[in-house]
Amino acid sequence: MDNCIFCDRSKISEDILYESPNFFVKVGFALYSAGQVMLIPKKHYDCFGDLPDELEGEKQKLEDILMKEISRKFSEPFQVEMGKWGQSVKHAHTHFVPLVNRSSGNSYQIKRIIQEMVVLGGGEKIDYEEVSVSALKKIYHEEGGYVSIKQSGRLYVCHVKDIPLDPINLHPQLTLRGFFSKVKGISGVTSWREMSQEDKLIDNEKREQTKSKLFF
Ligand SMILES: [Zn+2]
Repeated sequence: MDNCIFCDRSKISEDILYESPNFFVKVGFALYSAGQVMLIPKKHYDCFGDLPDELEGEKQKLEDILMKEISRKFSEPFQVEMGKWGQSVKHAHTHFVPLVNRSSGNSYQIKRIIQEMVVLGGGEKIDYEEVSVSALKKIYHEEGGYVSIKQSGRLYVCHVKDIPLDPINLHPQLTLRGFFSKVKGISGVTSWREMSQEDKLIDNEKREQTKSKLFF
């Protein structure tokens, strides 16, 4: 697709850590923790709800590799996808984020992300359920969008069709940036587009640590 940064891999090649036939793994900007990456299909799909079933096996293998490597080198990660709701790049991508970060100034710990982000995050009640991948796809096709969260192999979908996206307040229950900045109090991560020089320096350290350790 034209003007899609994830479709033009030549422009982001320095941030690509791993490739398989149909997917790649990329480090982003304004990271909450070192060890945080995105899993992205090479072909343009609006979200993973649109991923053809024949690519699910390859995706699962990469999820397993990322789980193992991030756990070994940082901490066990959880996954979040803004499934065509609140994505800043409108090309399918799932975030893998370590549950624990012990670096000074940025430290946080999460036990159950669904509980802390969606249930206790503040604001209105969010309807969510544990689902299979095929049920997630059905919900996407019926409702047009979702937020999905996965931890320890358990996949959840939040129903967002009646929730207007408010990028200014960042929905602390449903967006990673809102959760980490407002609930977890991590500074410098509200936007990857507008960062101060100091935030960029801190972010660069996290990005470099991710790149140097997650080479597999
Ligand atoms: Zn794209």
